Amino acid sequence: MPTKTSAPPRRRLARETEAERRARVRRISARLEKAYPDAACALYHQSALELLVATILSAQSTDARVNMVTPALFAKYRTAEDFARADPRVLEQEIHSTGFFRSKTRSITRMAQALLERHGGQVPDTMDELVQLPGVGRKTANVVLGCWFKKNEGVVVDTHVQRIATLLGLTTERDPVKIERDLMALVPREKWTWFSNALIQHGRRVCIARRPKCEICVINRYCPSSRV
Ligand code: SF4
Repeated sequence: MPTKTSAPPRRRLARETEAERRARVRRISARLEKAYPDAACALYHQSALELLVATILSAQSTDARVNMVTPALFAKYRTAEDFARADPRVLEQEIHSTGFFRSKTRSITRMAQALLERHGGQVPDTMDELVQLPGVGRKTANVVLGCWFKKNEGVVVDTHVQRIATLLGLTTERDPVKIERDLMALVPREKWTWFSNALIQHGRRVCIARRPKCEICVINRYCPSSRV
């Protein structure tokens, strides 16, 4: 049922100051923290290399789908050298079900070759070095930096984060890099990785695309797009 303190009217949101928006984000964070205190990356991995490969595989796919493929993949390919020397036709078959298997195979083998050539086969832990790797953009780099190296260098902007940040009125941008910039300005740095993982979980469980469950959403009173 609508209440006096439910969704901030869009009219008021348009006049929301930066300070008010930050305060609203603090309240949203507090609610999400209770709902998803341990929000973390859902991709199966046991090393930075595995997380890097899994994140490349997750493009245009789901974590659940990727997690069906990666245990066997990582049992076979254990090092950057293994991936660099993989037979592309074999690797394509092994990752086929994640979609876009040809371009993903190219990305993985070239990325692994670059790791060997530039980093002694190790995954680097800086944004600059990660985004220089073939097939690795800011989103993938943020996943590896935040979830493996525990470095808050940015906010992961996937489809869930993009959708919910827009619904919450935290950005009007469509470009993920600009959305990330807006979120970095609103969310305290120490929470960047957790915040994106929490929004991703919220997007899977509650704020589902095209059928959001606003009636059970813990942040509905702070959401200008709430239907309750
Ligand atoms: S579920 Fe509804 S209230 Fe919650 S964030 Fe999504 S649109 Fe807003």
